[in-house]
Amino acid sequence: MPDTPRSALVTGASRGIGRAIALRLGAAGHRVVVNYNSHPEDADEVVTTIRKQGGTATAIKANVAARTELESMFKVAEDAHGPIEILVNNAGIIRDTLLIRMKDEDWEAVLDTNLKGTYYCCKLAVPGMLKKRWGRIISVSSVVGLRGNVGQANYSASKGAIHSLTYSLAKELATRNITVNAIAPGYVETATVDVLSPQLKEKILTWVPAGRFGTPDEVAAAADFLAREEARYITGVVLRVDGGMAI
Ligand code: NDP
Repeated sequence: MPDTPRSALVTGASRGIGRAIALRLGAAGHRVVVNYNSHPEDADEVVTTIRKQGGTATAIKANVAARTELESMFKVAEDAHGPIEILVNNAGIIRDTLLIRMKDEDWEAVLDTNLKGTYYCCKLAVPGMLKKRWGRIISVSSVVGLRGNVGQANYSASKGAIHSLTYSLAKELATRNITVNAIAPGYVETATVDVLSPQLKEKILTWVPAGRFGTPDEVAAAADFLAREEARYITGVVLRVDGGMAI
């Protein structure tokens, strides 16, 4: 039997992994809010694709680092689709450099978008989930949040903190039928990886037992699973989707 259609919000859904998650949730029959920050044309393409498949979707602009923009987005989203029942915290940025060269702005931009954005969205979504006594929170972190990485002190700190946030919220919300999990991808074929030099890509692949990069849809499949009714007893998990990279 298919799951009950839910109201879903995916941050950073105009491109890459977020786009793939939005498409999967749309195909599963959920009403999807496609959040974006700076590429409306990409977000519109995602909405059009979901609608062509017979689904329901709306694009809403909001910078996840700006609480007031998120408050407006949640209001518009909830008016259109009802209280958010599936929240996917996916929006994330990198500002890679060694600690000795890192500017405070690089630290703050990454922590504000990746961590504070996730916190704000949880804070805005949880009251509605509590009322419904049903919810799924899925945050896209990274294997570097588990292992650290040279040149990514800011990024790995933000992703590691998402794991701790996930564990705490999972404990707080478990009795209310709200699960809270994270997905930690390895290197996935998106714009983030496209910009790496061929030499660096070759080096990275030597770290990946599967011998290849992941695809956005392989990460989306994990999100789709965690959002399902049958995943109700899975909470406080960091699910690696990394071709074995972090073993
Ligand atoms: P992309 O750079 O391809 O896409 C990023 C998305 O996030 C875009 O839709 C972008 O929207 C949105 N976004 C960026 N900043 C904001 C913001 N302030 N507010 C709202 N939306 C924003 O990223 P990926 O698909 O590669 O990554 C998605 C997630 O997966 C990130 O959290 C990343 O850290 C994580 N990840 C990625 C890996 C990879 O190899 N690709 C590996 C491990 C983790 P717009 O373009 O409209 O601004």
